[in-house]
Amino acid sequence: MKKVICSLLSLFLISVTLMAQTKVIAHRGHWNCEGSAQNSIASLQKAQEVGIYGSECDIYLTADGVVVLNHDRTHGSMIVEETTYKQLKKLKLQNGEVLPTFKSYLKQGLKDPNTKLIVEIKSHKDTTNEDRCVKEVVKMVKKYKMESQVEYISFSKRACKNLINLSPATPVAYLGSDVAPKELKTLGFSGVDFSDATFNKHPEWIAEAKACGLTINVWTIDNKADMQRFIDQKVDYITTNDPILLKGLLK
Ligand code: MG
Repeated sequence: MKKVICSLLSLFLISVTLMAQTKVIAHRGHWNCEGSAQNSIASLQKAQEVGIYGSECDIYLTADGVVVLNHDRTHGSMIVEETTYKQLKKLKLQNGEVLPTFKSYLKQGLKDPNTKLIVEIKSHKDTTNEDRCVKEVVKMVKKYKMESQVEYISFSKRACKNLINLSPATPVAYLGSDVAPKELKTLGFSGVDFSDATFNKHPEWIAEAKACGLTINVWTIDNKADMQRFIDQKVDYITTNDPILLKGLLK
């Protein structure tokens, strides 16, 4: 009986996945427009205005324990992990904004609960910093009661494992190319978030992920033909630097 129920449930989940339309995630926010910049508060606000599924951002912990948005290990010539927030914020973003704290980013997120925050925890040089970063992020998301508005992604297996343990109800997807969907499922992941190159190398991983009930996200797709190719394969999410183009294709 239990087996039959499990099979029916799997069939239901697979059909829901097949029916769902691909959704748009703005890579580092919606930054490719007037007044915006990658990983800025404005990039989230612009993504909210466009009305897309989610806005992605990159997260690091500073030397004095402040969670900030930044894609690279460095901000200008400063190593984020080894510099205090007071020092880091002296160098403004391209749109004139101060380097955003994750706290200010969450507050902007609260203004539109319909836009998901896709939070990438960067691999830190120091694993102690990375662990602290994960703990702080989960704590803040809980404090603002945003567990259902946030999804986590990371190249760091260590960070992913901690996220799955600390926030079991929040989706966690793996960005790396070295673990197959089946194994990710057994490790407690909710989805895969692979590059175009990874799916080209392992085209069978799309069907494998769907069969496991994992969500599928692909990055970073900026070309119309590639977008259409993944829409046709019914992936759940496409992460792009051109959310307007992708949104237009999905109409
Ligand atoms: Mg990222």
